[in-house]
Amino acid sequence: MKRIVIKIGSSSLFKGQDFATNKISALAQEIKKIRDSGIEVCLITSGAIAVGMSEMGLEKKPTEISSKQALAAIGQAYLMERYEKIFQTVGIKPAQILLSHDDFGNRDRVKNLNNTISSLFEFGALPIINENDALATEEIKVGDNDTLASMIALNIGAELLVIISDVDGLYDKNPVTNPDAKLIKTVDKVDESIFALAKAPTSKVGTGGMITKIKAAKICCNSGIKMMIVGNGKISSLSQITSGVNLGTEFIEKGKMPVRSNWILSCANVSGKIIVDNGAKDALIKRNSLLSCGILDIKGTFSSGSVVEVADENGKSFAKGVVAFGSDNLKTLDKKGEHRSQVIIHANNLVLL
Ligand code: GLU
Repeated sequence: MKRIVIKIGSSSLFKGQDFATNKISALAQEIKKIRDSGIEVCLITSGAIAVGMSEMGLEKKPTEISSKQALAAIGQAYLMERYEKIFQTVGIKPAQILLSHDDFGNRDRVKNLNNTISSLFEFGALPIINENDALATEEIKVGDNDTLASMIALNIGAELLVIISDVDGLYDKNPVTNPDAKLIKTVDKVDESIFALAKAPTSKVGTGGMITKIKAAKICCNSGIKMMIVGNGKISSLSQITSGVNLGTEFIEKGKMPVRSNWILSCANVSGKIIVDNGAKDALIKRNSLLSCGILDIKGTFSSGSVVEVADENGKSFAKGVVAFGSDNLKTLDKKGEHRSQVIIHANNLVLL
């Protein structure tokens, strides 16, 4: 292993109303051991809103988005201050990176992100990443840090994503209501039956719950990245994962999907729909590009570089892809003569559903 991503959720950062300083100190020591064994570590942290709430003396999360964003802006600074204090005891300098969903759709920004993270590793710093909650609107929010962590793992070429949670892993039944529920140690395939085991959010402070962890596992496994859910009670043994110890539930399916296709399929926000004729549908299924002459209709407003769904004559979506033209241009595009075969979605930018 060369690179791993570790994600810690809000519910593991707090013990009741108090910041779980001891747990985070143990995490710092374990991260130090992992780094000392030659593995680069990136930490994804939640907790900006939770720390903001605690700093402002609020017990209930406000529902208004602007209040949550304000609390995130307050909390993010205090969160980093706490990390800085704790990590300095093990000689590690934290570096803050805040990201939005849209950053992942922009090739230049992804390249910058990778370069910055590589430089941080060279400096010996620890990248600590959260969503840029203060700026993200509902439409451009990743929303939960499990998905964000899987997107980071994909983009920086990590071999393993570890999600530290207030549950010990995936159970065969809801462990809260079924005392005989058994922990599933290994998942070979993230299919519908696995999604069915995950229930709605249960934690008061976190955002995701088990469903977003399973989604993150799917994203990782699609591109052959291993994912592990580890209960926060195991933080002080965390470094054992680098020698192959399974501390919770491991998802080990080894998909081979290229990162970009995986991003188009699982992560990108869809901005519109292109309806195509049967000839174009056949061509796309045979892995050719979408040409202008096959387009029957355009739905929604999107710009060049957006991800759209591609649907057949019955309106059934069968592919997703990155468009080379915005919707306004497409609506006025001359589909005759030399423009008949203008490439609208290149085959490399298209994924069949
Ligand atoms: N980014 C949010 C925060 O720092 C949390 C998202 C999550 O809990 O997954 O408060």
